[in-house]
Amino acid sequence: MNAPFRTDLPEDDARPPLEVLIAAPRGFCAGVDRAIEIVERAIQKYGAPVYVRHEIVHNKYVVEELRQKGAIFVEELDEVPSDAPVVFSAHGVPKTVPAEAQRRAMTYLDATCPLVSKVHRQAERQIEKDRHILFIGHEGHPEVIGTMGQVPPDRITLVETLEDVERLPFTAADDLAYLSQTTLSVDDTRAIVEALEARYPQIVGPKAEDICYATSNRQAAVREIASGADLVLVIGAPNSSNSVRLVEVAERMGASARLIQRASEIDPAWLDGIGTLGLTAGASAPEALVREVIACLSQWRRIEERTITTAEESIVFKLPRQLLE
Ligand code: SF4
Repeated sequence: MNAPFRTDLPEDDARPPLEVLIAAPRGFCAGVDRAIEIVERAIQKYGAPVYVRHEIVHNKYVVEELRQKGAIFVEELDEVPSDAPVVFSAHGVPKTVPAEAQRRAMTYLDATCPLVSKVHRQAERQIEKDRHILFIGHEGHPEVIGTMGQVPPDRITLVETLEDVERLPFTAADDLAYLSQTTLSVDDTRAIVEALEARYPQIVGPKAEDICYATSNRQAAVREIASGADLVLVIGAPNSSNSVRLVEVAERMGASARLIQRASEIDPAWLDGIGTLGLTAGASAPEALVREVIACLSQWRRIEERTITTAEESIVFKLPRQLLE
């Protein structure tokens, strides 16, 4: 989908071209690919409409495309008729949600990313070992609500900042474990983990950090392009945690950075005095939006694209059995 941008560039434009450094990896991760495929296959298998609890992934373009194919997006299960199929979003849900679906004998499909489900299982295991969990994440994000909802509420405490670590009421004698949201800033999380370990030397953590491969790879890639760019554009939604983190990482590298949802938000004045522009997309933003941005930019400047690859990704997650039968 390239938007029909008209170019007004004169053929003898003497200005130097705008160098566009495109980060790789960028855009869709394996969890997002899987979640979208689950909704599409559910519509094929059960017929429209298929209900989806919460935006399947945090991207309006994706949600609108699925809506046109027959998905109905709701926020809570009580908005879904008992005889209609429902999909739970990639961010995961508290245990009460599938329990309610089972009680109502509903057909449901869980599109929770397997890497989020892994954190859910880690949380359960820590509770079985009688530890209190300190969960590093952002309050109100659906993944955080889902993971905290895997265990009794008095057995898990949210930690968002270094100040939160200082305020924790636990002592060095308490049995503690930490876990984290999958889409956090790698650097910020490391700092919080170090503060937790300094205050609670007995604390245990996951063998490998919970921040997922897609989040860390996209942060490493944007760091690379930001170091050579005057401005970085990150395609993603304001409620997409991993996209907002990409803006922060670019800014920390000294670049100006802007989060945009669509090319139409770009102001041509942003390009004034810019020789090199970095471009990336959060894990829930489709490649079509990257091409849309390039097409939009090329109406104002000649473009020289260069892809900067910092990692290769080949992960694919299996679909739920119900859709393979
Ligand atoms: Fe899964 Fe990571 Fe993608 Fe989230 S960003 S859906 S945790 S792979």
